[in-house]
Amino acid sequence: MPELPEVETVCRGLAMRMVGKRLTKVEQRRPDLRFPLPTDFAARLTGRRVLAIRRRAKYMLIELDDGQVILGHLGMSGRMLVTDMRPAQLETHDHLVFDLEDGACVRFNDARRFGMMDLVLSTELDQHKLLRDLGPEPLGNDFNGPTLAAALKGKKTPIKSAILDQKVVVGIGNIYASEALFRAGLSPKRLAATIQGDRAERLAAAIKQVLIEAIAAGGSSLRDYVQADGELGYFQHQWKVYDREGLACPGCDCDLARTGGIRRLAQAGRSTFYCSRRQR
Ligand SMILES: [Zn+2]
Repeated sequence: MPELPEVETVCRGLAMRMVGKRLTKVEQRRPDLRFPLPTDFAARLTGRRVLAIRRRAKYMLIELDDGQVILGHLGMSGRMLVTDMRPAQLETHDHLVFDLEDGACVRFNDARRFGMMDLVLSTELDQHKLLRDLGPEPLGNDFNGPTLAAALKGKKTPIKSAILDQKVVVGIGNIYASEALFRAGLSPKRLAATIQGDRAERLAAAIKQVLIEAIAAGGSSLRDYVQADGELGYFQHQWKVYDREGLACPGCDCDLARTGGIRRLAQAGRSTFYCSRRQR
């Protein structure tokens, strides 16, 4: 499933190809994705110029020259495919096809169809039902030690679950939650309410750090490597704890035979990976 750094990378890759360009043709190949597509979706996009592309949480926001914004989400399996020209044959799950004035082609492909697209007026974007209740962006100025501490105050859930809550901070998925807690030296089992002061500073900084590093890796993937099918946003990660159960902890110089290395824990049905020596 694409996480925030993947979505950021997709948005940057799309921006490189789409900003300033006119959509000369838009083809809608089915009536719905996760939700029905907007009425006259293709007709309302045809002829529009793309002004800017940005991200909010894990949503893509494609701003058009008539004040409308395409609000998109990749869901579980959504992919954006960018090619210099329209392929001779479309793939089965290419649900939307955008032809640009320079001949380039952008396709939204989604086998499982948990992705979505909507068309919203830019003036009404903040009030859209999918966006209005979202918490702060992890990389924004509104997210820092004190704001995180305030959001966690009185919370009786484990910290791992709390940082997955989109009202506390947006875009932290299961993988980044484990990685950030490892870097902050905080146990995933710790009561969220106890993350105050210095602990909140460490956790906010660790969340920013893991995301910034992953986005940098995604940026390199855009520059150095174009996949044959034009797919944007997937790249190699180096996890420190995620999916490393039983392997040596990269933060401790410990005897693996004695400590057992990285541990795995099920929390709210999701796997959490952590080091019990380093994370308290
Ligand atoms: Zn360790």
